[in-house]
Amino acid sequence: MHDVIIVGARVAGSATALLLARRGLKVLVLDRAMFPSDTLSTHQVQVPGVARLARWGILDAILEAGTPATRDVRFDQGQAVLTGRFPACDGTDFMCSPRRTLLDQVLVDAARAAGAEVRENFTVGELLHDNGTVTGVRGREKGAPAVTERAPLVIGADGKHSLVAEAVNARAYRAKPPQSMAFYTYWEGVPASGGELYGRPGCALGAWPTNDGLLMTYLAWPIARFGEFRQDVEGNFLRTLDAVGLGDRIRSGRRAERFRGTPDLPSYFRQPHGPGWALVGDAGLLLDPVTGQGISHAFRDAELLADAVADGLGGIRPLGKALGQYHRARDKAARPMYDFTARLAAINPPTPAEMALFRALLQRQEDSDAFFGALTGSVPLREFMSPRNMVRLVGVHGLTKLMLGQAVRGKPAGELPESAAPGSPGLGRLPWFAGSCRSGFRYEPQTSRPPTPLHAHVYDLLTPLAFCSPSRPLPSRPPPPRAACALEGFGDRWSLMACGRGVGWGQEFELGGLPGRKWGGGCAGAS
Ligand SMILES: Cc1cc2nc3c(=O)[nH]c(=O)nc-3n(C[C@H](O)[C@H](O)[C@H](O)COP(=O)(O)OP(=O)(O)OC[C@H]3O[C@@H](n4cnc5c(N)ncnc54)[C@H](O)[C@@H]3O)c2cc1C
Repeated sequence: MHDVIIVGARVAGSATALLLARRGLKVLVLDRAMFPSDTLSTHQVQVPGVARLARWGILDAILEAGTPATRDVRFDQGQAVLTGRFPACDGTDFMCSPRRTLLDQVLVDAARAAGAEVRENFTVGELLHDNGTVTGVRGREKGAPAVTERAPLVIGADGKHSLVAEAVNARAYRAKPPQSMAFYTYWEGVPASGGELYGRPGCALGAWPTNDGLLMTYLAWPIARFGEFRQDVEGNFLRTLDAVGLGDRIRSGRRAERFRGTPDLPSYFRQPHGPGWALVGDAGLLLDPVTGQGISHAFRDAELLADAVADGLGGIRPLGKALGQYHRARDKAARPMYDFTARLAAINPPTPAEMALFRALLQRQEDSDAFFGALTGSVPLREFMSPRNMVRLVGVHGLTKLMLGQAVRGKPAGELPESAAPGSPGLGRLPWFAGSCRSGFRYEPQTSRPPTPLHAHVYDLLTPLAFCSPSRPLPSRPPPPRAACALEGFGDRWSLMACGRGVGWGQEFELGGLPGRKWGGGCAGAS
């Protein structure tokens, strides 16, 4: 009898196993793969992920295998090019990009060294249940008869197409269909001194140094163009490299590996626990890879889950309660990046307002580095994108544009509705919102005219927030007339923002309707 069975031995499974085994639990890890082996994934480990590897004592093995530490980063949107460094996270100030053949093997070795039993080449075929509680698994090693293994907890770390999640019918929420497709390959003999991120109309591209002196290049196109891309993978890849200005440098070297890619990039949260089971890694939380967060999120959640399981099985608190805490902590930590990633995965060009933000960052190295920190996860995204920080960076007028840009995201700049153009009256004066600014934020249609796409989008943002009703008005002071209003939400914290005539106003609150910090910016009149 084991304390825990983990299905899947890659980044989520082995990390959870090593943390649990180090706490003295009897852990069995099963994976149908053999290690070392590759998997369909690039492998940027963000700064917080690297910090965790250091804390677990296994970073040295990865660096000693020749994995370059990446400190410098270039963010190139054509009209604005930011360069800088990642802010440190727990004393670690670099990210790295170890091949999965290396990273996963180091994690498996560390789990074994901690005392976990790892069985490779072992496919789990089904879960065992007793009165609705998962009690174990049944599966077989290749060529061997089926065996049964039992434990009070079975953890699914078995990836995107998780058998465990399917067997327990784990509820998915905030799920999104694929928005982008990804292809990647490796080049040798191409000079690179840091990480590079490019955005151009219709594509995003990253280039990261990895083991054996190779440069990994990853590109994303909108999912709708997958068929077109696949017809000429090499030609389209090279044309994209040319479009971002990397083509000549890449051609000075040689392609070292085949192209790999997939359109299978949905996003979801899944209920990560139930009687006798839990999920970690992609099995429970999946993001589009465009922000390269899956591995670092798996490490974070392995720590959260290991704490909960050790407490629950160690009798410190009831297991169900501890796993509920894991669920809440995971969602709270992941939600800002989940929403941000979903926006990037649409591969829309930056709005004029976002370009204004990038241009503002050009003048401010410290803030530019903080922006890189937000991208890698060492600076909370919510903090960087807060209305207060945006007002500081782009001013009230810039924030107004940013808010309006947000509302019409998805439309190329040339198609912005007139009402969103700089200098236009803003949402507050439009019929759909005519009442909203004067009657204490009752976001009701004020006209029988059909909404424009802009209005429909903003109204969609507001409608789910049932507390914005006359019976539960926001504790707020109304914004100035002729204002633009917007809601920006990260996790359970939201900001209602209003700007106009040089005055910025806003209130942060939680989804339950609790008031939070007020902020103001611009000139007199702001609270
Ligand atoms: C194109 C692409 C690029 C990406 N780039 C990055 C990036 O740069 N940075 C980043 O952080 N993330 C990236 N990701 C995401 C990253 O790959 C995942 O988040 C990460 O691999 C999740 O790890 P995991 O351990 O949860 O699952 P996986 O890595 O999917 O591992 C699951 C394991 O479970 C095993 N398994 C499954 N079913 C069974 C079964 N029935 N019996 C036994 N074993 C089973 C599998 O063999 C596998 O070894 C990318 C993803 C894609 C698709």
